[in-house]
Amino acid sequence: MKILVINTGSSSIKYELFDVDNHKILAGGMAEKIGEESGILTHKRILPNGESSEEVEEGLISDHHEGLNRIVALLVDPVNGVIADKGEISAIGHRVVHGGEAFHSTVIIDDEVIAAVKENISLAPLHNPPNLTGIEVAGSIFPDAQQVAVFDTAFHQTIPMRAFLYAIPYEMYARHKVRRYGFHGTSHAYVSEQAAEYFGRPLGELNLITIHLGNGASMAAIQAGKCVDTTMGMTPLAGLVMGTRSGDVDPALPFFLADNLGMTPKDIDNILNKESGLKGMCGTNDMREVIEKKDEGDEQAEIALEVYSYRIKKYIGAYFAVLESLDGLVFTAGIGENAPYIRELSCKGLNRLGIEIDPERNNRAGNGIREINPPGSEVKVLVIPTNEELKIARETKRVIESKIKARIFT
Ligand code: AMP
Repeated sequence: MKILVINTGSSSIKYELFDVDNHKILAGGMAEKIGEESGILTHKRILPNGESSEEVEEGLISDHHEGLNRIVALLVDPVNGVIADKGEISAIGHRVVHGGEAFHSTVIIDDEVIAAVKENISLAPLHNPPNLTGIEVAGSIFPDAQQVAVFDTAFHQTIPMRAFLYAIPYEMYARHKVRRYGFHGTSHAYVSEQAAEYFGRPLGELNLITIHLGNGASMAAIQAGKCVDTTMGMTPLAGLVMGTRSGDVDPALPFFLADNLGMTPKDIDNILNKESGLKGMCGTNDMREVIEKKDEGDEQAEIALEVYSYRIKKYIGAYFAVLESLDGLVFTAGIGENAPYIRELSCKGLNRLGIEIDPERNNRAGNGIREINPPGSEVKVLVIPTNEELKIARETKRVIESKIKARIFT
């Protein structure tokens, strides 16, 4: 079964085509700067020997419809294509950012689902509208394929009220849906399943802390396989220090910035989301560059790394208390998978909790799942590469094969 996974942004479409029965990725890429003269379409096809070949088309991609049509043309190209006909694609799996409280799992898209995603636009005004565009465009280009929505928020819908409710007037939750939702759910779900496979035990028996450190970053506390807390909140701004986002700050900070620096809500939004985090503290949001700067003796880079890792360590302690016992700690995404220095700093001094890192194992390069705790330690510390697209493809297959109409919670 061939499944096309797409992630539609306001000016981009990321895609990957999977042969899910054979666990193979056939092609992938991205259309960027849609609507601009300087549009770029990067297409990578995976060759039978596992190597890949890339082609890049530059020039105007007028809208998402043209973008997806051009992606399809590359997939079915008579010379370099990976499938003969677009009819071979059985389903399209869409990443949808915010499912609010309506979606606790993956769903086959119908009018009711579209209406519920629209209802959540106020919670994700920058993400849900382009996700809906992707659904509409894919529906018109693939009229015979099933359309499936996989939500970033769904995995966190098991979080109990004591962890998701903000201590503000209850009406804000009851009438306006203000609460913690959490994001990166597809990644947290994927790596926790991978961890269970590594343990050789059912996920339902495991307590895990999963730490997704990409440009965006979040952690999840997983008890008996279910998410019970996460660091991001109503929006992805809360929690850990990120590339350009501040993570947790005093909620009164915006009033200070408005009253003393004359900033508007838009300025404050921009500062906290786009000019803070690593970038705000030391000038770059690229972790490789921050570590390089620190190695060259840059003090601001060094303190930025300390702030970054201290926040992770603090949440490990908090989530240990939430879970009461811990089987595994999982690092994933660009930084989690590739920055031993961050893993080491984040876990330093936690041996009383059974969390230890073996320096040699931590620094050893490798692909795939790696165990970086010393032999015999109480908690397994794992590095697990995330693969959100593969998880979306598998979820898509699961729901179309089960044919069970998922419930929309109202
Ligand atoms: P992601 O959003 O998962 O693609 O992760 C992006 C982040 O991973 C960026 O901050 C990169 O600098 C960081 N990253 C990627 N490779 C490395 C590496 N080898 N060492 C440190 N950070 C890395």
